[in-house]
Amino acid sequence: MTVKLLFKNLSPFVKPYHKLVVATLLLTLIGSFAAQVNAWVLRYTVDHISDLLHVEDKLKKGLNLLTWISVILITKEVVNAFVQFGQKYFGEKLRILVSRDLAQRIIDKILTYKLAFFTANDNESGKLQTRIDRGIESLTRLVQNFFIDILPLFANAIVALIMMFQANVWVGMVGLILVPIYFLITQNQAKKLSGWRRNMRGFRESKSQGIISIIDSITVIKSFNREKIESKKQLDLQTQLTENQLQTRKTNFIYDGIKSFVEQFGVVIIIILTVYLVLTDLMTVGAIMFHIMLFGNVSAPIRQLHRIYDEMNDAMIYSETFFDILNADHQTENTGTYAPAQLKGEFTLQNVSFTYPNGTEALHDINMTILPNKITALVGLSGAGKSTIINLLDKFYNPNHGTILLDGVDLNQYNTKFLRDNIGLVLQKNHIFNGSIEENIRYGKINATDEEVIEAAKKAYIHDQIINLPLGYQTKALNLSGGQQQRIAIARMFLKNPPIIFLDEPTASLDAIATEQIKNSLDAIKKGRTVVIISHSISQIIDADYIYAMKAGRVTESGKHEEIYNQNGVYKEIFDASARSLNIEKIAKTFEDE
Ligand code: ADP
Repeated sequence: MTVKLLFKNLSPFVKPYHKLVVATLLLTLIGSFAAQVNAWVLRYTVDHISDLLHVEDKLKKGLNLLTWISVILITKEVVNAFVQFGQKYFGEKLRILVSRDLAQRIIDKILTYKLAFFTANDNESGKLQTRIDRGIESLTRLVQNFFIDILPLFANAIVALIMMFQANVWVGMVGLILVPIYFLITQNQAKKLSGWRRNMRGFRESKSQGIISIIDSITVIKSFNREKIESKKQLDLQTQLTENQLQTRKTNFIYDGIKSFVEQFGVVIIIILTVYLVLTDLMTVGAIMFHIMLFGNVSAPIRQLHRIYDEMNDAMIYSETFFDILNADHQTENTGTYAPAQLKGEFTLQNVSFTYPNGTEALHDINMTILPNKITALVGLSGAGKSTIINLLDKFYNPNHGTILLDGVDLNQYNTKFLRDNIGLVLQKNHIFNGSIEENIRYGKINATDEEVIEAAKKAYIHDQIINLPLGYQTKALNLSGGQQQRIAIARMFLKNPPIIFLDEPTASLDAIATEQIKNSLDAIKKGRTVVIISHSISQIIDADYIYAMKAGRVTESGKHEEIYNQNGVYKEIFDASARSLNIEKIAKTFEDE
């Protein structure tokens, strides 16, 4: 990312506020002239007072001069106060508005991205969040500082420099020569510091991570008596952090010294030069202070150069990844236009192969038919590719080879929003949003009536438990147990009432009673719909009308329970193992004994 590219990317976000920008620029101009007033007044005062020293009635004339000076200086301070307030306020307003727009734009943008974007290796939620946050933070800081610090300071410097040249070419040259020298020193300093600064960030993150990890694993640490080891880990980190901090400070102090020296050297040269000009009668004595003060106005902003340099660097580093995310148009989900009035719900997979963006080959040459009004079960050890099939049917990913048809039409031709409106997805671990139970259920149908919400909760066998809670439907859903949350998710799907239902181990986290209740309500919902269920529970598999057994991304056998069992393949292996793990014989004996 270059500075030019940075500003090009940023400008669409600043453009809507061009009036603010113009107002700020105007204030900056006024401010930079006001900043020179002190120098002018001082020269005028010194010159006139030295003249007055030789006349009679000096006190009276002096008082007159004093009144004028006071009026000018106080007026200037009043103007300055307004200018500074305006600059700070407009700059801050701009920062807040730009930051809001950047945040909203990136949220709107990533919501349109493919699932592949979110599951890509370097886009884990934590990393993505850090990149977005840092990007926004550094960009908005740049915008703000540009208008509040950088622009006014440099405008001041340029005006002061012009005045120095106007006073005397040689005096102007001293001011001008100082700028590149300062710039070189600052660049050097920033380069030296950048490594330390990066390390510092890393150490700070590890340090806070370390404390969180200790708190999270305190039971394990104590039960294994590992307090000393944990303490040592933190100590090592602290030592590195301290070393790094000291190095940063040391570098800063050394460079501060060098810069101070260069600046004072400039002042000395200015004094010598001006005194020479005064003594050779080319200037009046007031020029000495005048030049020193103008020189101060030139050197003040470049003293800040190193901070500005850091901020620009930060903005370039972090905004690069930020704009990469914002401009990843190729990640936008594709959608077709097909949206029939009625869906039958028959899926056909023809020679479908799929590899995840990270290179995991999940499916090979899958052929499958999923019929409406039937329950199709996918059975296989974990990692076999069952969930991946559901991911493809929901159009979360597109197959690399082969075709998926829904009612004879290529899934790609379907309007994605329409398709997902017609699919209900219940996962093993369903997402519960931060909000009330009611809000979480209503997510299935935003405009549902209260009665409909209650009806859905009843179907998911959770209504009775909800009304016994002190806050009822207004209870925070995140406070519920895993099994209860699962039933909230199922109620959400009941409310959506889609013709196609995918259940990915829906009862895996439920207790036996809840599982049975859910099984009953799922039995009820299956009628007249397409149901695909992934399950490890024999009772649910046995109920399926058709079963596909999968292993390592391939379909190994398929058929009704009896047929597929007799094929002596993966299905039989898994089924027998499940029966053994359930200790079916002893269970059966219990029932016989009764
Ligand atoms: P199952 O549902 O049968 O347990 P999955 O379909 O979840 O299996 O996974 C099939 C293979 O794809 C596994 O090797 C798994 O690690 C991999 N996989 C699943 N999801 C992703 C993903 N988002 N990105 C990369 N690989 C994945």
